Amino acid sequence: MRPRPARAEPVRVVEDSNMATVAKAASAAVATCPILINGERRESAGRTEVQINPSTGQPSSIVPYCTPEEISEAIGAAQEAFSLWSAMPVLNRARILFHYHAILEKNADRIIALNTEENGKTRSESQGSFQRGLECVEFACGAPTLLMGETADHVGGDVDTISVRAPIGVCAGITPFNFPFMVPLWMFPLAIACGNTIVMKPSPAVPRSTVLAVELLYEAGLPAGVVNVVHGAKDAVDAILNDPRVKAVSFVGSSAVARYIYKTAAANGKRVQALGGAKNHSIVMPDCDMKLAVDSVLASSFGCAGERCVATSVVVAVGEAGDTFIAELKKSVDKMRVAPGDEPGADMGPVITPEARKRIVGYIESGEKEGAKLVRDGRQDACNSQDGYFLGPTIFDHVKPEMKIAREEIFGPVLSVVRANDLDQALEIVNSTEQGNASSIYTRSGAAAKKYAATVQTGMVGVNLGVPAPVAIFPFAGWKASFFGDAHALGKDGVRFYTETKVITARWPE
Ligand code: NAD
Repeated sequence: MRPRPARAEPVRVVEDSNMATVAKAASAAVATCPILINGERRESAGRTEVQINPSTGQPSSIVPYCTPEEISEAIGAAQEAFSLWSAMPVLNRARILFHYHAILEKNADRIIALNTEENGKTRSESQGSFQRGLECVEFACGAPTLLMGETADHVGGDVDTISVRAPIGVCAGITPFNFPFMVPLWMFPLAIACGNTIVMKPSPAVPRSTVLAVELLYEAGLPAGVVNVVHGAKDAVDAILNDPRVKAVSFVGSSAVARYIYKTAAANGKRVQALGGAKNHSIVMPDCDMKLAVDSVLASSFGCAGERCVATSVVVAVGEAGDTFIAELKKSVDKMRVAPGDEPGADMGPVITPEARKRIVGYIESGEKEGAKLVRDGRQDACNSQDGYFLGPTIFDHVKPEMKIAREEIFGPVLSVVRANDLDQALEIVNSTEQGNASSIYTRSGAAAKKYAATVQTGMVGVNLGVPAPVAIFPFAGWKASFFGDAHALGKDGVRFYTETKVITARWPE
């Protein structure tokens, strides 16, 4: 399969020339999202666009696109802060993060509500991603132990060798729209725990969650300039990639952009971890616990409106599992309530933009055109009473592996079910995918699960669960076109990414 062309920015914002929407935003008196440079909240001098709440279609804030001077100033502030911060004892750095954790918990309701407002997730989904974000801070609090080196005594006459982990300098974090709070927390807590400073550039579709998360970190006592936040799109990213003061870049987003970030940053001599898009499969074996498989595929495929890099996009149903699986899944999915994320009882919120909805509807039309059997049509759930970007769960059966809906990342609530005769054929289908982020298998057979885990070419593997997103003490990332770089995010890989090893060999003769 050919790589998907670079998608444009999530276009939920309008150009300045669209005066009607700008005026609407102004009349709604929404605030302009600030930038954070050197610990100060400021207004950017750059052009602005309107950020829309996907549940209502109404303006939510004004997002600035930073000028090149502001990006450069943010990098300069991070560089200035580096000497003081990297020299601070690691125990003191960790203490700030412990304090930060307590402040985050105190502000949970505010963070969760903003996450739902910016992204459209249901309240319980925002709550879940808040917890996963906290987990990243908990992991980073372990920096005093994580940064411990190794010692070899007496490697030669009077000679000892020790290794230490040193920070690398100014880092940058570039994040997508789908987890406004959690994904930035994959990056800056660990980066700074390791002694680095950082400039964050969130998606312009969800700019305020990162600002709030970083402002709360300053409340915890972070020295000025250690974490900075700028806004913008490709221009802002290019300014970061081309600045020699930036030593490492962490990126999460689509595969086409991840590949570009990797190539450009690496060509400029930077360390890069670029996590890309996904096309995740779940194999449903005939011997599985069918209720468990149905419940967890439902949550994995349609949770967060399918806008999750670990969402199940294709189920490979083996043998007689297919008919029962489809019948049971449809029954459960028909009970789902598509509604604004902050409404009690909402099971699924909107997708992020009208353009995203149009793109996803295009995939549904393509599935119909290529002859897949439409078992449930999410277009029927478009929540017309709202101005938001709603689309219900869609299920296709008898999808062929070569169809577009089986090959390309849809990033929306559309599930394709492919039929296979046995585990070997199912594995072949999963491994023929260009991307290799996550996958899972439902079975009662230890042998089948073991064979699956050993053979499947994905970075994250689940057994009898839908979303195999590892806890923060383990690395997070995919294989193949889902990841560009060497060290994955979080876990010991994350520590390796944000540090350089220094080996000191010393002779002290008597
Ligand atoms: P995106 O690639 O459009 O944007 C991600 C970031 O890159 C944003 O900050 C954006 O401003 C910037 N950007 C966009 N176009 C750019 C360009 N041409 N040059 C430089 N920078 C650019 O992704 P998105 O639509 O915000 O997020 C959805 C994608 O992210 C999906 O593909 C999803 O699978 C992926 N994702 C992956 C993971 C993972 O762990 N692998 C996690 C979350 C999301």
